[in-house]
Amino acid sequence: MKTAAVVGSGPNGLAAAISLAAAGVSVTVYEAEDRVGGGARSSDLTLPGLIHDECSSHHAFGLASQFARKFDLAQHGLEWAYTDVEFSHPLDDGRGAHAVRSVVETSRTLGSDAEQYRRFFSPVASRMPTIADEFLQSLVHVPRHPIHLATLGMRAALPAAAVAKYFRTDEARALWSGVAAHTFGPFDVPLSAAIGTSLASAAHYYGWPVAVGGSGRITSAMESLLLTLGGRVETGHRIDDARELAAVDVLMLNTGPAEAARIAGASLPRRAVRGLKRWKNGPAAFKLALAVDGGIPWSYDPSRRAGTVHLSGTYEETAFAESETARGRMPERPFVLLAQQHLADPTRGRGSVVPIDCYAHVPAGFTGDATEAILAQIERFAPGTRDRILALTPRGTAAIEALNSNFVGGDILTGRKDPLQLVFGPVPGLNPYRLSPPGNDHPGIYLCSAAVPPGPGAHGMCGYLAARQSLKEIHQKG
Ligand SMILES: Cc1cc2nc3c(=O)[nH]c(=O)nc-3n(C[C@H](O)[C@H](O)[C@H](O)COP(=O)(O)OP(=O)(O)OC[C@H]3O[C@@H](n4cnc5c(N)ncnc54)[C@H](O)[C@@H]3O)c2cc1C
Repeated sequence: MKTAAVVGSGPNGLAAAISLAAAGVSVTVYEAEDRVGGGARSSDLTLPGLIHDECSSHHAFGLASQFARKFDLAQHGLEWAYTDVEFSHPLDDGRGAHAVRSVVETSRTLGSDAEQYRRFFSPVASRMPTIADEFLQSLVHVPRHPIHLATLGMRAALPAAAVAKYFRTDEARALWSGVAAHTFGPFDVPLSAAIGTSLASAAHYYGWPVAVGGSGRITSAMESLLLTLGGRVETGHRIDDARELAAVDVLMLNTGPAEAARIAGASLPRRAVRGLKRWKNGPAAFKLALAVDGGIPWSYDPSRRAGTVHLSGTYEETAFAESETARGRMPERPFVLLAQQHLADPTRGRGSVVPIDCYAHVPAGFTGDATEAILAQIERFAPGTRDRILALTPRGTAAIEALNSNFVGGDILTGRKDPLQLVFGPVPGLNPYRLSPPGNDHPGIYLCSAAVPPGPGAHGMCGYLAARQSLKEIHQKG
């Protein structure tokens, strides 16, 4: 029987382990922390009984991925819940914009930009299942649906700033800036429209669901499936050097690139080690969990029904804040992403008290306290919120990294999303997952974290694809 060790139990580590175990490989997962889950964990961060998501909250590709279609996590307790407004972007004076599932309905709220909005998003959103299959994998591949992929590609390749020029109204431009900011980078570089276009189109096709009971249910369902398939999990076991592990056929690293070099560098070619060490991290997040009595009293009414609220004012303000954080400067008014999971999943709250998870984009390794800047952005669009806050728990960049070493300096995307890193991962080549040379005897060493394509998110596809590659190579060896 072939054997595998997986270092790290984030969604990608678990997806890799499940894929290997389902193919008959004997798998052990080693997790440094005392719970599985990495960036998909939940806990009562503020008050007992309130369920907060420690990291990921919304899962645009939770249903869409090949992994989700192949492995039925519903049988292991995973249930998705939805809001009727996917995301919203309040502006001053009670104005704002919001996106619902239907592109047409969304466009109708955007005045003179209605037609432009439909033209930009309808072609991608309506082809989402085939497009998602194309981009939720290594971008270096022969597409099965080249025309559909091109529909996304011609938009995604643009700078986010160029897309903003399609729109004239403050509302449409602000709405776009909120999803574009998920890239954590400046808006004037090629491909900076990629993540915003994909996420908004996914919102229009699939919605942005939350896991009932918390995002931790995603990874607990994965762990349960893995155990059913005969896999093993050792928590509280950090791996510092691959030589600590018993000999295996496959070593999967669900770690950041620098950590992968530390763990397995001695067994890797110099080119791979150089690529891993050269990997650049991007701007960071400063997280704030709030317990709020009666929810947030947004001035822009649709924000009261939105799962996600983007707080950064106009397009120009958002673009400025993103460019400042990328340059290492903390803006006075940062981009804030605020999640209201309780609207889709009432089990998260207790009576009238609800958990709110938000984070600001801050410079890499930011050592200051962004709590006030976040509260000011909330209060700006929802006066009176401060009086409703019963408890708050901030988590700065150092704390984020201490709880998950993949988030270096608080970089929750496991790497800067510049065009080269986004497309190729740390070790460019036809196979971005394999770190050890092909044909190497033992073990085949693979990187399966969010640093490799298709990149960040709790979708598990990096792990699924790395495992698929390793299985192909195991079978070739016979
Ligand atoms: C505040 C925040 C909000 C986010 N919001 C969203 C969202 O709404 N939607 C979304 O899709 N994504 C979101 N993300 C990003 C998402 O969480 C990550 O992209 C995703 O978790 C990456 O998965 P992964 O499996 O690659 O690694 P991770 O989830 O980072 O897991 C890696 C695991 O490996 C373990 N590990 C690392 N090194 C070692 C070692 N040497 N030995 C043993 N174990 C080790 C770590 O402890 C960790 O458990 C968010 C992240 C944060 C922090």
